[in-house]
Amino acid sequence: MSDIFNNELFEAFAAASDNVYIYVCEMKTDISRWSKASVEYFGLEGEYLKNAANVWAEHIHPDDLSIYTEDIDAVFAGTKRSHDCQYRARNALGEYVWVECKGSVIRDAEGNPKIFAGLMTRIDGQSKYDSLTGLLTTLELHHFDFSAQSGIALLIGMDGFRKVVSNYGYNVGDELLIEFSRRVKDLCASGWKLFRFSGDEFLLLAFHAQEQQIVDFYRKVCHEIDAIELKNGKKIGISASAGGVLFPKDADSREELINKLEHSLEYAKNSKRGDLVFFSEEIAKKHERGLALREDLKQCIKNNFQGFELYFQPFVSPGTDIIAGCECLLRWKGEQIQDSYPMEFIKVLEDYGGIQEVGYWVMEQSMKQQVAWRSTYGELKVSFNVSYQQFMDDTFEERLVSYAEQYGVNPSYIIIELTESCQVDNPGELSALFDRLRSRGFRIALDDFGTAYASLEMLKCLHVDYIKVEHSFVRELSEPGHDIDYVIIDNLLEMCKRLGYDSIVEGVENRKVADIVGKMDATLLQGYYYSRPVCREEFEKLLDSGRNE
Ligand code: C2E
Ligand code: CA
Repeated sequence: MSDIFNNELFEAFAAASDNVYIYVCEMKTDISRWSKASVEYFGLEGEYLKNAANVWAEHIHPDDLSIYTEDIDAVFAGTKRSHDCQYRARNALGEYVWVECKGSVIRDAEGNPKIFAGLMTRIDGQSKYDSLTGLLTTLELHHFDFSAQSGIALLIGMDGFRKVVSNYGYNVGDELLIEFSRRVKDLCASGWKLFRFSGDEFLLLAFHAQEQQIVDFYRKVCHEIDAIELKNGKKIGISASAGGVLFPKDADSREELINKLEHSLEYAKNSKRGDLVFFSEEIAKKHERGLALREDLKQCIKNNFQGFELYFQPFVSPGTDIIAGCECLLRWKGEQIQDSYPMEFIKVLEDYGGIQEVGYWVMEQSMKQQVAWRSTYGELKVSFNVSYQQFMDDTFEERLVSYAEQYGVNPSYIIIELTESCQVDNPGELSALFDRLRSRGFRIALDDFGTAYASLEMLKCLHVDYIKVEHSFVRELSEPGHDIDYVIIDNLLEMCKRLGYDSIVEGVENRKVADIVGKMDATLLQGYYYSRPVCREEFEKLLDSGRNE
């Protein structure tokens, strides 16, 4: 029997309370141990259970099962830090009681789940009101019969709340939640009900409301939260996204309503951040496609990354048009889905946590490729894309260094591009990592420079080697009326030079643009004019033709 089950701590915790139920699961064997109190109260077979997730799922109220499984899936996928949800569970008497279930995963050095441990608390009758905001909790939702009354439900989620907490701390986060909920509540018409849904999400039931009334209400909410003054005098502006569902027209049960609200909010956050989006067939289809993509991607990853491929887009030196290297861009064709473009499938990978595994595959393939080209084409600068989430993985540095050693790569030819720097919510930690990677010789690039609003801020706290100028400034440079783009790029490049950074200008689509940027002070150029991203064989033909000139 494994040590994790036999320690005194477990015994001590298990004995400490009779309405808190603790469990610990060893993931490798899928054997879990439950405290005596939980065995007795829930009528479990014994203290040790094999395949507890399925055994426990049998105890959960069918209407609440998806709340539990979705939360657990997100925790194991690494997209949610800890398991934390409320649902009804059947006890030994066959009654359903409300429990709050919390747990967390401990991972091994490879990032695989090793131990899952947590506790359940009975919350019957305890949490009608949320202790922080004083709003109703969602436990109260089961009093409503959504088939018998009409209205509109809104799920409102604050944008960037996590970033506020990491910048200013939990106290400021709490203050913001209280103030946010107060302002939203003040705007509600009489008879409407506002609930704290979870973390930074709020659920509104607007009985008898019309769509236009809700649109007006939402506009006022956005205006109200645009500048919230905190106790310390600091003003924080926050935006919110929202999903709306008409009941009973689009949902006539609590479960359906919550599902559709969550899908609509997810859609708003991804595609119309800061806006209100009502549930539609398009959203339902998008959600379905997201699930199908996720399944297909998981299957391909399991089959040794079958269907994944790297494409390469050249970096050329201005003036000479000589290929100095390339950016590695991911492509994928699934078993079922063959037409997914990178922005779509990478988002799905990021949402469920699969980007970590695929990202390491990209890292390994890019480095292997750099070395494979060395004898024929010399040292090429090879870049690959890494999101903030990937950088923050505990094993990132170790894997990078070990692949470099394994394949014999000279790190100074590897450029790691940080995509979507606006998502960085702990620049301090990232900056320390960048410094360590750079001291080992790796090169770092800040991608899409100029679009993400935080770019300039990022430049202040991160030391990098390259700035990649976003293609939206560059593409139409030669068209009339784009003088402003010229001024922006010219000044960005001047700034790079003065700060000692190299630069890569993306989006060079035609000869005219190539001529214009060629006269500026860029280190490297990239774009369809030189080549679209192409497969390895095609890229090698480009390299060959360059050599023969
Ligand atoms: P990105 O890093 O900004 O990549 C450049 C994108 O611009 C590529 O799209 C490329 O095809 C496109 N592009 C290149 N030259 C031109 C041009 O002259 N004009 C125009 N209009 N577009 C041009 P792609 O390959 O669809 O990749 C989209 C995004 O997907 C990438 O944007 C990157 O953020 C992400 N991505 C691709 N591969 C990976 C990967 O391995 N890991 C991660 N995390 N993200 C990746
Ligand atoms: Ca890139």
